[in-house]
Amino acid sequence: MILLVFLDGVGLGPATAANPFVTLDLPAFERLAGGQRWTADATPIREPEHVFIPIDATLGLEGLPQSGTGQAALFTGENAAAVHGRHFGPYPPTTVRPLVAERSVFARLVAAGIEADRLAFANAYPDRFFRFVEKRGRWTATTLAAHSAGVRLRRAADLAARRALPADLTGETWHALIDIDQKPQSEADAARALAALVADHAFVLHEYYLTDKAGHSQDAARAADVLTSLDRFFEALLDALPPEALLVLSSDHGNIEDLATKSHTRHPVPLIAHGPGAHAFAEAGSLTDVTPAILRVLTDADA
Ligand SMILES: [Zn+2]
Repeated sequence: MILLVFLDGVGLGPATAANPFVTLDLPAFERLAGGQRWTADATPIREPEHVFIPIDATLGLEGLPQSGTGQAALFTGENAAAVHGRHFGPYPPTTVRPLVAERSVFARLVAAGIEADRLAFANAYPDRFFRFVEKRGRWTATTLAAHSAGVRLRRAADLAARRALPADLTGETWHALIDIDQKPQSEADAARALAALVADHAFVLHEYYLTDKAGHSQDAARAADVLTSLDRFFEALLDALPPEALLVLSSDHGNIEDLATKSHTRHPVPLIAHGPGAHAFAEAGSLTDVTPAILRVLTDADA
């Protein structure tokens, strides 16, 4: 079983004062990097059950990587930026939507014989998200990939049953702004809910995008709130995951690791694999190598 945690806008950058991975104390992040801070200086790890390496997010194109094409590449294993001709975001452009719909990690696992109900997309979406999608036709990469493969999008009722996670993990935003009475929870509660989903699925995806928002804000206090919240989440997650689960973690492009710039960066992004089968990720070089490695682990007994 694999849990893929996708963090939006997290690169491995130089160890400068503008890099919150240098200035903050983040013990669980460091545990995921073999006791190192998440910077460009960290030594890659390629052990049988633990991989921590930088991978390329530029996809061989000029310009700053963007979420639409970067996420499409991460979740399909195809160079979506090359398909589109340039980086594009935040939503996948029409040129790559068929790719995301038909060749996503979800679709390819279903094609390999794993039933769609053994796959889960853990994020919950409020009703207003579905109204927005209907009106604008703007799917995110993850929602389009899941929905097209027959993997159900989770809603408020799933959150209430602790069978889904809110975008901010704690549900504070949801509680304050949106349409249900969902009590805020701790990051550890969110981690335990996610671990329970992992225990009864072959593959679970969780998406977290507040890292990218914090990077764009250039607000060090906001970045600290987001990263320390995630650190609490990872700490509980590492304890709660079943021992046979493989945790895979990556990003679509850099951003929060350089608060001196408002934009994305061309830095490599981290690829972490932690647990049985991790070594299948050891030779990954770019965003497009993540989905093929997931497929090898889940569909090939020799992987
Ligand atoms: Zn962004």
